[in-house]
Amino acid sequence: MTKTQSPIWHPFTQHGLQQEIISVERAEGAYLYTKDGRRIIDAISSWWVVTHGHCHPKIVEAVRAQAGKLDQVIFAGFTHDPAEELAETLLSFAPDKFSHVFFSDSGSTAVEVALKMAIGYWAQTGKARRKVLALEGGYHGDTFGAMSAGARSVYSRMYEPYLFEVTHLPFPAAGEEARTLEALETFLKAHGNDTAAFIFEPLVLGAGGMLFYTPEVLSQMAEMCRAHGVLLIADEVMTGFGRTGTMFACEQAGFAPDLLCLSKGLTGGFLPMGATLATEAIYKAFYHTDRAKMFFHSTSFTGNPLSCTAALASLKIWEEEPVMERIASIGESYQKAAIHFEKRDDVENIRIKGDIFALDIREVMPGYLSEIQPFLYKTMLSHGVLLRPLGHTVYILPPYCVTTKDLDTIYECIDFALDRLGHERRKQAV
Ligand SMILES: *Cc1c(COP(=O)(O)O)cnc(C)c1O
Repeated sequence: MTKTQSPIWHPFTQHGLQQEIISVERAEGAYLYTKDGRRIIDAISSWWVVTHGHCHPKIVEAVRAQAGKLDQVIFAGFTHDPAEELAETLLSFAPDKFSHVFFSDSGSTAVEVALKMAIGYWAQTGKARRKVLALEGGYHGDTFGAMSAGARSVYSRMYEPYLFEVTHLPFPAAGEEARTLEALETFLKAHGNDTAAFIFEPLVLGAGGMLFYTPEVLSQMAEMCRAHGVLLIADEVMTGFGRTGTMFACEQAGFAPDLLCLSKGLTGGFLPMGATLATEAIYKAFYHTDRAKMFFHSTSFTGNPLSCTAALASLKIWEEEPVMERIASIGESYQKAAIHFEKRDDVENIRIKGDIFALDIREVMPGYLSEIQPFLYKTMLSHGVLLRPLGHTVYILPPYCVTTKDLDTIYECIDFALDRLGHERRKQAV
């Protein structure tokens, strides 16, 4: 339903284009039900957050019970069972290396916290380091620190003068790993002792276009950084909680970072929450009898009991239900779909990792503002599937409860949209 009179200013929306804003009444599993009676397959997990499915009964029940008990409480000087249990449980899911969990509200705040902890770590241990490394094309959120670490693009252009300096390494695309490693080596030789941290999305650049790189090159980069004491910040806000086929993507590269940023799938996508996991060494850098050395950071709703409860319930589902098997069976469906899409000559770079399937449309100008993005989005929505291409990249990232039948509908929908796009292009060509 189009609501042109709404006072709401939507995210990543050009209201001047008067595009349809769809009103959703309820959601269940992989489906969104709109106010005007449509059922839409949520093929992107509502922007990568929903893991087990919308309104999973176990999460609904847990939050319902908690809501009548403790809604919110100041988290400085106070604590509560859901937060304590969640911290313990999160640490048990994560690599042994971590000893502490800092809660916040979103992926961006989890990243801000990690950056401040890394920079603070060096400042507090008496050898301040000023430089930060990141990957070209990365995305870490839309707050200023996160924007600084992320790619410089149309997203951040008008704010660039206000962003702090970050060195972006060339993206280690397949076959171009040596170039990245050389750039890293050169940089570390010159500035290794002045570099506080390397922040990266492990294995997959999400918003950057679902671009994959290998665990091997990630592991090599990590090792080189380590040799110079550079702290490793893994931004697993998107990749965490199974998206790449393992609980965390770093597992595949065989190392544990110093700081781990989590959000999106943390609560199963039920409530907003961020978490930054830190090692004992980083925690110790702020541990002191001097108040001036504490970690100066908080968000009002940090450690919110309802969010903690949703996250706990979600992690319990990981323990009780065959979640990894679900992801594996989605992967099997993807393999078959890849064979199908490979036959299309308007498609290239078909790639699969865990819950992610992506393909690029051939012979179009790449980039977010590419004209084909809105065309595909609208065409696929009219077909009952929510997919939100990143420029010329069409990707699927569904909740793990998605059925093979739903997946088939999604593939059909992509075919339909690509056919329509081909038709439009031919029309424009004559
Ligand atoms: C989405 C995302 C963020 C930002 O998370 P928000 O909750 O939107 O602030 C940070 N890093 C990565 C890798 C993301 O995909």
